[in-house]
Parts: sequence; C-alpha cells; structure tokens
Amino acid sequence: MKKVLHIGIDDTDSLKGSCTTHLATTIVTEIAGYVSFLDLPNLIRLNPNIPYKTRGNGAVAIRIIGEQKDLQECKEITIKTTEKLARFEDENTNPGIAFLMGEISGKLKAFSKQALWDVLSIAQAEMFQENAKIDLLKYGNGRGIIGALAAIGNLLEEDFTYEHLSYRHPKNYGTKRAIDEQSVYKADKATPLTFNNIDYEYNSVLITPRGADPVFSGIRGETVKEVLAAWELLEPLEPIVMQMVFRTNQHTNQHLFKRFKINQLKAHQAIITSGVVSRKPRYIPGRHLIFSLKDETGEIDCAAYEPTKRFRNIMNQLLVGDELEVSGGVRPTADKHPLTINLERVRIIKLIEDFKKENPFCDQCGARLKSAGKNKGFKCFKCSAVYRNKKVIQTERPRKITIGEYIPPAIAHRHLTKPQVRMGRDNTGTQLSERETNALLAKLIEFNRANN
Ligand code: ATP
Repeated sequence: MKKVLHIGIDDTDSLKGSCTTHLATTIVTEIAGYVSFLDLPNLIRLNPNIPYKTRGNGAVAIRIIGEQKDLQECKEITIKTTEKLARFEDENTNPGIAFLMGEISGKLKAFSKQALWDVLSIAQAEMFQENAKIDLLKYGNGRGIIGALAAIGNLLEEDFTYEHLSYRHPKNYGTKRAIDEQSVYKADKATPLTFNNIDYEYNSVLITPRGADPVFSGIRGETVKEVLAAWELLEPLEPIVMQMVFRTNQHTNQHLFKRFKINQLKAHQAIITSGVVSRKPRYIPGRHLIFSLKDETGEIDCAAYEPTKRFRNIMNQLLVGDELEVSGGVRPTADKHPLTINLERVRIIKLIEDFKKENPFCDQCGARLKSAGKNKGFKCFKCSAVYRNKKVIQTERPRKITIGEYIPPAIAHRHLTKPQVRMGRDNTGTQLSERETNALLAKLIEFNRANN
C-alpha cells in the first residue's frame, strides 16, 4: 500500500555557500522516478527575526507518495545528499532533517504557526521525536530540526505564491551573476503576474542575488505559468545547471498575525501592536528614523532603517498623538538602543489635526504680543498695552500624509512582506493538481538531469 512521506530540511547553508533550496532541488531530481510528488517542493520562510538565520530563514518541505521500500530509498538519498552538500565546516550551520509518515497533526501545524513569529527551542522540536511517525536527524547542535519540522507542518493551506529558482554552475560560485539586464525588464513587463523583479523607483534588478550561494535567479509570481514565462524571457549569460519551482509563503505576510500590548513585546518576535505616537520622529546617525509609540501599558521605539528609503520620509511626517497599528520585528535591547520595533508595515488609523500656534497682535500698535506670564494674558513690549482676554491664534496646517497602509519599497522587502501589488490578492486553493504537479516536475527534472 502506498504511503505519504513529508521530508523537511533546514540550516544546511552558510554565507560562504550552499542554499537549502539548491539541496532540495538536487534531492527532488534524484528521487524522481521512485515516487510521485503530492506538491511542488515548499519553500517556507520562518520568523525573519531569528538571530541564527543565514539570510532569509527559509526551510523546505518535499511531500511524496510511494511504496514503503521506495520511500525508504528516498530517505537514504535525502540523508546522503544533505551530508554531501551541507556546509558542516561553518559552526553556524546546524542541519536538521525531519521525516514524517502520514498525516500532519494539529500539534505540528501549531508548532509551524508559532515558528513564523516566535522563537522556539530545540527541546520543543525534540518533543516530536516521541511520535513514532516522525524521525528527526540532527547535525551540529541540531537547531535545523526546528525549521525542518516547521516546514513540514506548514501545508500552505492559505495564501501562497511561487518562486522559480535557477542555479549556477559551481565554477561561477562567488562571481557576479552574468545576465542581460534588458531581458529582466522585458520579462517583467511581459508577465504582470510576477512581482519584485525590479525596483523601478531605485532602478535595481532584484531577481539575481549577490552572495556566494548557487542561486542564479529567483522569479516570484502568482502562478506557475507566469514564473515560467518570465524565466523563458530571461537571458542568462552563464550556464544554468538546475531549476525548480517552489510553492511558498513568501510575500503573504503570513508571519504577521500576533497582536500584543507594548509591555508584552519580546525580542526577536514578529508582532503587531497599536498605540499613539508619543515622541516625534527624528533621524539618528546612519539616516535611520526613530519615533516612539505608546499604549496604556508602555512605550517603545519604532525604527525605519536607512534601507527602507522613502518609507522614512512618510514616517517622518508623523506627529505626537497620531494613532497607528505597526507590524514588524522586535529588535533586542543593546548598549546603543532600547527594545525597538523594526517597522515592516504601518497602518495610520487616525491623524491629529495640526495647528500652527501664534501670539495675537496688539490692537494699538499692531506689534506681535508676548505672553505676560502663565494665565496672565498678553503684553505688548512696544507700547506696553496689556490684554487679559486675547487668545493664541491657531491656523490649521494641512497634513502631508493620509490614513492608510504603508510599507517600505520593494528593494527593502523581506521575503515574507506582502507587496503593494499583492494587496487584496489571495491564492488560497488554487494550487496545481497532483497530475499537473508531476508533469511540471518531470520537465524540470529532465532539464536538471541533462544539464547537471
Ligand atoms: P537560507 O535562507 O539561505 O536558507 P536561512 O536564513 O534559512 O538560510 P538557516 O541557516 O536555515 O538560515 O538558519 C536558521 C536557523 O533557525 C535554523 O536552524 C532553524 O531551524 C532555526 N529557526 C527557524 N525558525 C525558528 C524559530 N521560529 N525559532 C527558533 N529557531 C528557528
């Protein structure tokens, strides 16, 4: 009888090289033929504020169905390939593999959900070891099992997107990606259902990373058809040895759903909180913008860092008394700063009226009056007239921002950030059928086998 196996992998890469998606693509390419795939490989982004992450805190899940002996073969291939490709020499790389036979329990789903916003311990992940259907393999300090399990438990049952990833020849690792940039502009214009290919405002191509990892390009989009169409239009100027399409929680804001009062916020969490601006925005060295927010429980600093560019100019218009809902990551206290929310999204709920306040004029000589002291009215310092009943003149100044939601530009987006173009979009329930999934994977695998 056929059985279902979920494979989760995490923490296999370092800044010096490798990438967990590359490992997953290699595994998918090697196990094809033994089994059938239940889904495209899943790229699951977890809490982006985790201090141990290499880059974007991504983990992967591969979901397959097959005969027991073939599944066993797939497990062995997974272990062998991970042991071959993971960067064990880096002490920060602590790979974890999770195998789960059968259904995903509610408990595991809850664990995955928590991994999106909170900090979990290795011990919390190890509790799942007691379940006979789950096998956990740890390397180094074993931290990778947190992400490996969290990836398996996230079935992407709500909104999701796709990413087409292509990989470079190892001889080019560490060099600048060679691509005809015009082809990126062409591909972007021709595929309206892809996004974040280019930041037009800052004239920056976003699909090619800069690190030493094997990824050549990543095209993000709403449908498989569209990310593939964009890929076809790209003109890489170096050999591509593998490609894969992942189904992913990227660009869905899936990490931002936990609401807390200000005094409940803890370091490294992804949170939403509300309050009123209690200290007006100011620039600090490095051109980071900081303001304070308070509610009935406490006060906290909020930061729009330099890379968020024009988002800072918008935040700089806030005034004490404005009412906001802010979402972001909680940065721990350090010598130079208190606990701070690293802003990812700001919803302006209410703007106070802004008045310019000026002293009235003297009725006798027309000069601007000065205060005669607290509750003592005004005095003219030119002709000595005194006015007990005159009031300060208030003129309304129009606010330069409006109520609404604001996020940083694409160039500063985190992997999970839902971009403006996706607002209102929800792909729940639109994934490929098993037949379509396997047909697509067969094509990609054929390419990988022919070029690798
Ligand atoms: P890349 O994006 O290049 O794949 P990365 O940024 O995903 O790299 P990892 O090398 O995977 O970084 O390291 C993240 C580590 O944090 C992993 O060991 C993972 O298990 C762990 N981790 C992920 N989410 C959580 C969480 N919510 N709580 C605690 N640990 C976590």
